[in-house]
Amino acid sequence: MADWEAIAKTIALAATGEAPRGEIQARPLGGGSINHAYALEIASQSYFVKLNHADLHEMFVAEAEGLAALRDCGRMRVPDPIAHGVSGRHAWLALEYIPFGAGRAGSAFEAGRALARMHLDCRARRFGWHRDNTIGSTHQPNAWRDDWIDFWRDNRLGFQLEEAARNGYRGSLQRLGGELLERFPALIDHNPAPSLLHGDLWGGNIAYADDGQAVIFDPATYYGDAETDLAMTELFGGFGQAFHDGYRSLLKPAAGSPIRKVLYNLYHILNHTNLFGGGYAGQAQRMMERLLAELR
Ligand code: ADP
Repeated sequence: MADWEAIAKTIALAATGEAPRGEIQARPLGGGSINHAYALEIASQSYFVKLNHADLHEMFVAEAEGLAALRDCGRMRVPDPIAHGVSGRHAWLALEYIPFGAGRAGSAFEAGRALARMHLDCRARRFGWHRDNTIGSTHQPNAWRDDWIDFWRDNRLGFQLEEAARNGYRGSLQRLGGELLERFPALIDHNPAPSLLHGDLWGGNIAYADDGQAVIFDPATYYGDAETDLAMTELFGGFGQAFHDGYRSLLKPAAGSPIRKVLYNLYHILNHTNLFGGGYAGQAQRMMERLLAELR
């Protein structure tokens, strides 16, 4: 059992400047893939709280900083990070609680436009971020690079392939991966800008607030090619044509984007291989074969 009294005290102090008065109630929520999520009521104010093991506190620090970066960009709504800490065996992260609804007519189109605005308006001079973070629960290195190809090779594809080797995926996955690491630069000829990214934009990490505005959460933020975020929206589906129409109304894909989509989503499928195993290794190999066929 988490020490809700202690957690609520830190949250209330951060949010209101005062110790909590009145009843504290933690209600478990479903839906999280990595952490345990709760709605925490403190004196009839709701907070969204995630719990995990104490040694994963750094993951929550990075998530709070990612949400703050997305919020500061100001183009898409994110839950405000309020506080984080360690209490006994638990690390925790408290966010603004946002009641989610079904969205309205036009919500998905506006969400697509807002994502394109974020990609266009919030940019850095280099690729990476000021700190590493996690993707799922896998470490995600973000060391700055001037060149996107170097960044993708070292911090994304190469890193996940090494992780896969550590997890026992040797043989053909590594052979195909090694060849791809040498050849993939030919696919990146569109000179991408370092855009602020959500970084883990699958359908489970976007929802609509009661007013119909899209909210993105659970990010793996860094500055990189905007096409990576867009590619992931198509990996597991759920965003719909209106979302893509909205995005494209501001930002059109560069030539060669369909095959780069496979390259960029390979990162997530390799990560799923490392996190969940199962059929993902086969899917990663098929994606690598498709990319190499394009390159031969
Ligand atoms: P995990 O890190 O375990 O994947 P998420 O951040 O995806 O957890 O959150 C789990 C679920 O909780 C989401 O699918 C969403 O429905 C809900 N949720 C996330 N953030 C909030 C929030 N700020 N307010 C209310 N509900 C939220």
